Amino acid sequence: MIQKNKIMETSTDIKIDGAMGEGGGQILRSALALSICTGKSFQINRIRAGRKKPGLARQHLTAVRAARDISGAQIAGDEIGSTTLSFKPGDIYSGNYHFAIGTAGSTTLVLQTVLYPLLLAAGESRITLTGGTHNIHAPPFDFLAQAFLPILNSMGPQVKLNLERYGFFPRGGGQLTVHIRPTPKLKSINLMERGTIQAYQARALITSIPEHVAQRELDRVGKKMKWSKDCLHHCPLPANQGPGNVLLLEVKSKQITEIFTGFAQRGIRAESVADGVIKKAKDYIKADVAVGEYLADQLLLPLALAGEGEFSTLTPSVHTLTNIEVIKMFLSVSITTHQLKGKKWIIRVKSI
Ligand code: ATP
Repeated sequence: MIQKNKIMETSTDIKIDGAMGEGGGQILRSALALSICTGKSFQINRIRAGRKKPGLARQHLTAVRAARDISGAQIAGDEIGSTTLSFKPGDIYSGNYHFAIGTAGSTTLVLQTVLYPLLLAAGESRITLTGGTHNIHAPPFDFLAQAFLPILNSMGPQVKLNLERYGFFPRGGGQLTVHIRPTPKLKSINLMERGTIQAYQARALITSIPEHVAQRELDRVGKKMKWSKDCLHHCPLPANQGPGNVLLLEVKSKQITEIFTGFAQRGIRAESVADGVIKKAKDYIKADVAVGEYLADQLLLPLALAGEGEFSTLTPSVHTLTNIEVIKMFLSVSITTHQLKGKKWIIRVKSI
Protein backbone atom coordinates (compact mmCIF):
# COMPACT_ATOMS: atom_id res chain seq x y z
CA MET A 1 0.00 0.00 0.00
CA ILE A 2 1.31 3.49 -0.79
CA GLN A 3 1.40 6.50 1.47
CA LYS A 4 1.49 9.86 -0.27
CA ASN A 5 1.36 12.38 2.56
CA LYS A 6 4.90 12.41 3.83
CA ILE A 7 5.98 14.92 6.40
CA MET A 8 7.41 17.28 3.78
CA GLU A 9 7.86 16.94 0.06
CA THR A 10 10.99 18.53 -1.34
CA SER A 11 13.66 17.73 -3.86
CA THR A 12 16.55 19.03 -1.71
CA ASP A 13 19.65 16.85 -1.85
CA ILE A 14 21.21 16.77 1.62
CA LYS A 15 24.97 16.24 1.87
CA ILE A 16 26.10 14.28 4.91
CA ASP A 17 29.62 13.75 6.17
CA GLY A 18 29.57 10.23 7.63
CA ALA A 19 32.66 11.07 9.68
CA MET A 20 30.87 13.71 11.74
CA GLY A 21 30.72 13.23 15.54
CA GLU A 22 30.62 9.54 16.36
CA GLY A 23 31.29 8.60 12.72
CA GLY A 24 29.29 5.35 13.09
CA GLY A 25 26.45 3.46 11.45
CA GLN A 26 23.72 5.43 13.22
CA ILE A 27 24.30 8.44 10.95
CA LEU A 28 23.41 6.32 7.94
CA ARG A 29 20.39 4.59 9.54
CA SER A 30 18.89 7.84 10.81
CA ALA A 31 19.47 9.46 7.40
CA LEU A 32 17.73 6.57 5.60
CA ALA A 33 14.72 6.64 7.91
CA LEU A 34 14.35 10.41 7.78
CA SER A 35 14.92 10.57 4.05
CA ILE A 36 11.95 8.26 3.45
CA CYS A 37 9.77 10.03 6.03
CA THR A 38 10.45 13.47 4.54
CA GLY A 39 10.96 12.62 0.86
CA LYS A 40 14.36 14.39 0.93
CA SER A 41 17.19 12.76 -1.01
CA PHE A 42 20.66 12.60 0.47
CA GLN A 43 24.25 11.80 -0.34
CA ILE A 44 26.61 10.54 2.32
CA ASN A 45 30.36 10.10 2.10
CA ARG A 46 33.00 8.81 4.54
CA ILE A 47 30.44 6.27 5.86
CA ARG A 48 31.52 4.90 9.27
CA ALA A 49 34.84 6.74 9.04
CA GLY A 50 35.08 6.57 12.83
CA ARG A 51 35.09 2.74 12.87
CA LYS A 52 38.01 0.31 12.54
CA LYS A 53 36.62 -1.06 9.28
CA PRO A 54 34.87 1.88 7.60
CA GLY A 55 32.18 1.57 4.93
CA LEU A 56 29.08 -0.55 4.66
CA ALA A 57 29.16 -3.87 6.52
CA ARG A 58 26.51 -6.51 5.94
CA GLN A 59 24.10 -5.05 8.50
CA HIS A 60 24.31 -1.56 6.99
CA LEU A 61 23.92 -2.88 3.46
CA THR A 62 20.82 -4.82 4.50
CA ALA A 63 19.47 -1.64 6.08
CA VAL A 64 20.14 0.33 2.87
CA ARG A 65 18.39 -2.26 0.71
CA ALA A 66 15.51 -2.58 3.17
CA ALA A 67 15.10 1.20 3.02
CA ARG A 68 15.10 0.98 -0.78
CA ASP A 69 12.51 -1.81 -0.79
CA ILE A 70 10.00 0.03 1.41
CA SER A 71 10.35 3.27 -0.53
CA GLY A 72 11.15 2.31 -4.12
CA ALA A 73 14.27 4.48 -3.76
CA GLN A 74 16.91 5.01 -6.41
CA ILE A 75 20.28 4.25 -4.87
CA ALA A 76 23.94 4.19 -5.82
CA GLY A 77 26.87 2.89 -3.76
CA ASP A 78 25.10 -0.09 -2.16
CA GLU A 79 28.06 -2.45 -1.93
CA ILE A 80 29.97 -4.03 0.91
CA GLY A 81 32.78 -1.67 1.95
CA SER A 82 31.30 1.31 0.10
CA THR A 83 31.96 4.61 1.86
CA THR A 84 29.53 6.66 -0.23
CA LEU A 85 25.83 6.31 -0.92
CA SER A 86 23.20 8.36 -2.66
CA PHE A 87 19.57 7.73 -1.85
CA LYS A 88 16.48 9.21 -3.51
CA PRO A 89 13.33 7.87 -1.89
CA GLY A 90 9.96 7.32 -3.58
CA ASP A 91 6.69 6.66 -1.75
CA ILE A 92 6.32 4.56 1.39
CA TYR A 93 5.11 1.02 0.69
CA SER A 94 3.65 -0.86 3.62
CA GLY A 95 3.36 -4.64 3.25
CA ASN A 96 5.10 -7.90 4.07
CA TYR A 97 8.87 -7.97 4.04
CA HIS A 98 11.69 -10.34 4.91
CA PHE A 99 15.13 -8.83 5.47
CA ALA A 100 17.92 -11.36 5.94
CA ILE A 101 21.31 -9.99 6.97
CA GLY A 102 23.17 -13.18 6.09
CA THR A 103 25.59 -12.78 9.03
CA ALA A 104 25.13 -12.23 12.78
CA GLY A 105 24.65 -8.48 12.09
CA SER A 106 21.99 -6.80 14.22
CA THR A 107 18.37 -7.28 13.15
CA THR A 108 17.25 -4.56 15.56
CA LEU A 109 19.41 -1.97 13.80
CA VAL A 110 17.89 -2.91 10.44
CA LEU A 111 14.49 -2.56 12.06
CA GLN A 112 15.47 0.88 13.37
CA THR A 113 15.91 1.96 9.74
CA VAL A 114 12.52 0.90 8.35
CA LEU A 115 10.37 1.24 11.46
CA TYR A 116 9.70 5.00 11.34
CA PRO A 117 8.68 5.22 7.68
CA LEU A 118 6.40 2.20 8.10
CA LEU A 119 4.87 3.80 11.22
CA LEU A 120 3.70 6.64 9.02
CA ALA A 121 2.57 4.46 6.09
CA ALA A 122 -1.04 4.11 4.99
CA GLY A 123 -1.34 0.39 5.80
CA GLU A 124 -0.05 -2.27 8.16
CA SER A 125 3.28 -4.05 7.70
CA ARG A 126 4.66 -7.39 8.80
CA ILE A 127 8.41 -7.78 8.80
CA THR A 128 10.62 -10.79 9.39
CA LEU A 129 14.29 -10.08 10.14
CA THR A 130 17.02 -12.70 10.37
CA GLY A 131 20.52 -12.26 11.79
CA GLY A 132 21.62 -11.34 15.30
CA THR A 133 19.06 -10.53 18.00
CA HIS A 134 21.47 -9.87 20.88
CA ASN A 135 24.51 -7.99 19.52
CA ILE A 136 27.05 -5.92 21.35
CA HIS A 137 26.69 -2.19 20.46
CA ALA A 138 23.05 -2.64 19.39
CA PRO A 139 19.69 -2.74 21.18
CA PRO A 140 18.94 -6.34 22.18
CA PHE A 141 15.43 -7.67 21.52
CA ASP A 142 14.51 -7.34 25.22
CA PHE A 143 15.41 -3.64 25.27
CA LEU A 144 13.16 -2.92 22.29
CA ALA A 145 10.31 -5.04 23.63
CA GLN A 146 10.35 -3.86 27.25
CA ALA A 147 11.87 -0.37 27.26
CA PHE A 148 11.40 1.20 23.83
CA LEU A 149 8.15 -0.13 22.36
CA PRO A 150 5.87 0.69 25.32
CA ILE A 151 6.92 4.34 24.89
CA LEU A 152 6.62 4.30 21.11
CA ASN A 153 3.18 2.67 21.30
CA SER A 154 2.05 5.36 23.75
CA MET A 155 2.67 7.82 20.88
CA GLY A 156 -0.09 6.31 18.74
CA PRO A 157 1.06 3.32 16.64
CA GLN A 158 0.83 -0.32 17.63
CA VAL A 159 4.06 -2.20 17.11
CA LYS A 160 4.34 -5.82 18.23
CA LEU A 161 7.71 -7.51 18.30
CA ASN A 162 8.20 -11.23 18.58
CA LEU A 163 11.40 -13.19 19.11
CA GLU A 164 11.22 -16.42 17.10
CA ARG A 165 14.80 -17.52 17.63
CA TYR A 166 17.85 -16.12 19.41
CA GLY A 167 20.84 -15.05 17.32
CA PHE A 168 24.23 -14.31 18.90
CA PHE A 169 27.55 -13.30 17.36
CA PRO A 170 29.23 -15.03 15.54
CA ARG A 171 26.68 -17.67 14.54
CA GLY A 172 23.60 -15.45 14.04
CA GLY A 173 20.54 -17.27 12.71
CA GLY A 174 18.17 -15.39 15.02
CA GLN A 175 14.77 -14.21 13.89
CA LEU A 176 12.39 -11.42 14.87
CA THR A 177 8.95 -10.72 13.52
CA VAL A 178 7.33 -7.31 13.73
CA HIS A 179 3.76 -6.23 13.15
CA ILE A 180 3.35 -2.50 12.58
CA ARG A 181 -0.02 -0.79 12.76
CA PRO A 182 0.73 2.82 11.77
CA THR A 183 -0.60 6.07 13.11
CA PRO A 184 -1.54 9.15 11.05
CA LYS A 185 0.46 11.37 13.44
CA LEU A 186 2.83 10.56 16.27
CA LYS A 187 1.82 12.14 19.60
CA SER A 188 4.39 13.97 21.68
CA ILE A 189 5.56 12.59 25.01
CA ASN A 190 6.84 13.99 28.25
CA LEU A 191 9.11 11.71 30.26
CA MET A 192 10.59 14.04 32.82
CA GLU A 193 9.96 11.79 35.84
CA ARG A 194 10.37 8.04 36.00
CA GLY A 195 8.25 7.73 39.18
CA THR A 196 9.04 5.34 42.02
CA ILE A 197 11.02 2.23 41.21
CA GLN A 198 8.64 -0.72 41.54
CA ALA A 199 10.75 -3.77 40.68
CA TYR A 200 14.23 -4.95 39.80
CA GLN A 201 15.14 -8.04 37.87
CA ALA A 202 18.32 -9.62 36.50
CA ARG A 203 18.20 -12.28 33.80
CA ALA A 204 21.24 -14.18 32.58
CA LEU A 205 20.39 -15.71 29.18
CA ILE A 206 22.77 -18.50 28.31
CA THR A 207 23.22 -21.29 25.80
CA SER A 208 26.12 -23.60 24.93
CA ILE A 209 28.41 -21.83 27.39
CA PRO A 210 29.22 -23.35 30.81
CA GLU A 211 26.29 -22.66 33.15
CA HIS A 212 28.54 -21.33 35.92
CA VAL A 213 29.09 -18.18 33.79
CA ALA A 214 25.45 -17.16 34.24
CA GLN A 215 25.55 -18.01 37.93
CA ARG A 216 28.67 -15.91 38.51
CA GLU A 217 27.07 -12.94 36.71
CA LEU A 218 23.95 -13.23 38.85
CA ASP A 219 25.94 -13.63 42.08
CA ARG A 220 27.81 -10.45 41.24
CA VAL A 221 24.56 -8.56 40.60
CA GLY A 222 23.06 -9.86 43.86
CA LYS A 223 26.12 -8.75 45.80
CA LYS A 224 26.77 -5.35 44.19
CA MET A 225 23.17 -4.25 43.58
CA LYS A 226 21.95 -5.84 46.85
CA TRP A 227 19.09 -7.49 44.97
CA SER A 228 17.47 -10.49 46.67
CA LYS A 229 17.69 -14.01 45.16
CA ASP A 230 14.13 -13.92 43.81
CA CYS A 231 15.15 -11.00 41.51
CA LEU A 232 17.93 -13.08 39.92
CA HIS A 233 17.01 -15.45 37.08
CA HIS A 234 19.19 -17.98 35.36
CA CYS A 235 17.60 -18.48 31.91
CA PRO A 236 18.95 -21.39 29.83
CA LEU A 237 18.07 -21.12 26.11
CA PRO A 238 17.79 -23.93 23.54
CA ALA A 239 21.22 -25.40 22.75
CA ASN A 240 20.82 -24.92 18.98
CA GLN A 241 20.44 -21.12 19.36
CA GLY A 242 23.92 -20.38 20.66
CA PRO A 243 26.55 -20.18 21.81
CA GLY A 244 25.67 -16.98 23.59
CA ASN A 245 25.24 -15.19 26.90
CA VAL A 246 23.84 -11.81 27.87
CA LEU A 247 23.05 -10.33 31.25
CA LEU A 248 19.95 -8.10 31.32
CA LEU A 249 19.21 -5.80 34.26
CA GLU A 250 15.67 -4.45 34.34
CA VAL A 251 14.66 -1.40 36.39
CA LYS A 252 10.89 -1.03 36.34
CA SER A 253 9.62 2.37 37.47
CA LYS A 254 6.08 3.74 37.50
CA GLN A 255 6.44 5.58 34.17
CA ILE A 256 9.13 3.63 32.39
CA THR A 257 11.11 0.38 32.28
CA GLU A 258 14.83 0.54 31.52
CA ILE A 259 16.97 -2.39 30.41
CA PHE A 260 20.77 -2.48 30.76
CA THR A 261 22.68 -5.21 28.95
CA GLY A 262 26.05 -6.84 29.38
CA PHE A 263 27.29 -8.96 26.46
CA ALA A 264 29.61 -11.90 27.11
CA GLN A 265 32.77 -11.81 25.00
CA ARG A 266 35.52 -14.32 24.61
CA GLY A 267 38.35 -13.59 27.06
CA ILE A 268 36.25 -11.35 29.33
CA ARG A 269 35.39 -12.75 32.76
CA ALA A 270 31.76 -13.15 33.80
CA GLU A 271 32.39 -10.77 36.72
CA SER A 272 33.67 -8.05 34.37
CA VAL A 273 30.62 -8.41 32.11
CA ALA A 274 28.44 -8.05 35.21
CA ASP A 275 30.44 -5.07 36.55
CA GLY A 276 30.00 -3.13 33.29
CA VAL A 277 26.25 -3.45 33.28
CA ILE A 278 25.95 -2.93 37.06
CA LYS A 279 27.70 0.42 36.64
CA LYS A 280 25.23 1.47 33.94
CA ALA A 281 22.23 0.52 36.09
CA LYS A 282 23.68 2.24 39.17
CA ASP A 283 24.42 5.47 37.26
CA TYR A 284 20.85 5.49 36.00
CA ILE A 285 19.30 4.86 39.41
CA LYS A 286 21.52 7.44 41.13
CA ALA A 287 20.95 10.20 38.57
CA ASP A 288 17.18 9.97 39.09
CA VAL A 289 16.44 10.31 35.36
CA ALA A 290 13.69 8.66 33.33
CA VAL A 291 15.65 7.69 30.23
CA GLY A 292 19.05 5.95 30.04
CA GLU A 293 21.79 6.67 27.51
CA TYR A 294 20.67 4.24 24.79
CA LEU A 295 16.97 4.85 25.17
CA ALA A 296 17.76 8.56 24.68
CA ASP A 297 19.28 7.67 21.29
CA GLN A 298 16.21 5.67 20.32
CA LEU A 299 13.68 8.32 21.37
CA LEU A 300 15.15 11.20 19.38
CA LEU A 301 13.70 10.18 16.02
CA PRO A 302 10.13 9.51 17.15
CA LEU A 303 10.08 12.75 19.16
CA ALA A 304 11.46 14.73 16.23
CA LEU A 305 8.88 13.16 13.89
CA ALA A 306 6.17 14.00 16.43
CA GLY A 307 7.56 17.57 16.40
CA GLU A 308 7.55 17.84 20.17
CA GLY A 309 8.52 16.09 23.39
CA GLU A 310 10.97 16.05 26.27
CA PHE A 311 12.66 13.68 28.66
CA SER A 312 15.18 13.66 31.47
CA THR A 313 18.29 11.62 30.79
CA LEU A 314 21.97 11.12 31.58
CA THR A 315 24.74 13.27 30.12
CA PRO A 316 24.18 13.02 26.34
CA SER A 317 26.72 10.77 24.62
CA VAL A 318 28.61 11.72 21.44
CA HIS A 319 26.30 9.22 19.78
CA THR A 320 23.21 11.14 20.93
CA LEU A 321 24.69 14.50 19.91
CA THR A 322 25.58 13.13 16.47
CA ASN A 323 22.09 11.78 15.98
CA ILE A 324 20.68 15.21 16.88
CA GLU A 325 22.78 16.80 14.13
CA VAL A 326 21.52 14.29 11.54
CA ILE A 327 17.89 14.84 12.55
CA LYS A 328 18.25 18.62 12.20
CA MET A 329 19.42 18.14 8.60
CA PHE A 330 16.07 16.63 7.67
CA LEU A 331 13.47 18.12 10.01
CA SER A 332 12.69 21.67 11.11
CA VAL A 333 13.04 21.00 14.81
CA SER A 334 15.12 22.45 17.59
CA ILE A 335 16.62 19.84 19.90
CA THR A 336 18.19 21.26 23.04
CA THR A 337 20.22 19.55 25.73
CA HIS A 338 20.27 21.19 29.13
CA GLN A 339 22.08 20.11 32.29
CA LEU A 340 19.90 20.18 35.41
CA LYS A 341 22.46 18.97 37.96
CA GLY A 342 25.31 16.48 37.91
CA LYS A 343 24.52 13.78 35.36
CA LYS A 344 20.85 14.75 35.12
CA TRP A 345 20.02 16.41 31.80
CA ILE A 346 16.92 17.34 29.84
CA ILE A 347 16.52 16.85 26.10
CA ARG A 348 13.73 18.89 24.57
CA VAL A 349 12.40 18.70 21.00
CA LYS A 350 10.28 21.47 19.44
CA SER A 351 9.10 22.24 15.92
CA ILE A 352 10.56 25.42 14.51
P1 ATP B 1 29.00 1.02 13.57
O1 ATP B 1 29.05 2.35 14.16
O2 ATP B 1 30.20 0.18 13.73
O3 ATP B 1 28.45 1.03 12.20
P2 ATP B 1 26.51 0.29 14.46
O4 ATP B 1 25.97 0.19 13.09
O5 ATP B 1 26.19 -0.77 15.43
O6 ATP B 1 28.00 0.26 14.46
P3 ATP B 1 26.24 2.69 16.10
O7 ATP B 1 26.42 3.99 15.42
O8 ATP B 1 27.28 2.29 17.09
O9 ATP B 1 26.05 1.71 14.94
O10 ATP B 1 24.78 2.59 16.80
C1 ATP B 1 24.40 1.61 17.69
C2 ATP B 1 22.95 1.77 18.16
O11 ATP B 1 22.67 0.77 19.12
C3 ATP B 1 22.58 3.08 18.81
O12 ATP B 1 21.26 3.43 18.48
C4 ATP B 1 22.67 2.79 20.32
O13 ATP B 1 21.81 3.56 21.09
C5 ATP B 1 22.20 1.35 20.33
N1 ATP B 1 22.77 0.56 21.44
C6 ATP B 1 24.07 0.22 21.62
N2 ATP B 1 24.21 -0.54 22.74
C7 ATP B 1 22.98 -0.68 23.28
C8 ATP B 1 22.46 -1.34 24.43
N3 ATP B 1 23.24 -2.00 25.27
N4 ATP B 1 21.12 -1.25 24.68
C9 ATP B 1 20.32 -0.57 23.83
N5 ATP B 1 20.74 0.06 22.73
C10 ATP B 1 22.04 0.02 22.44
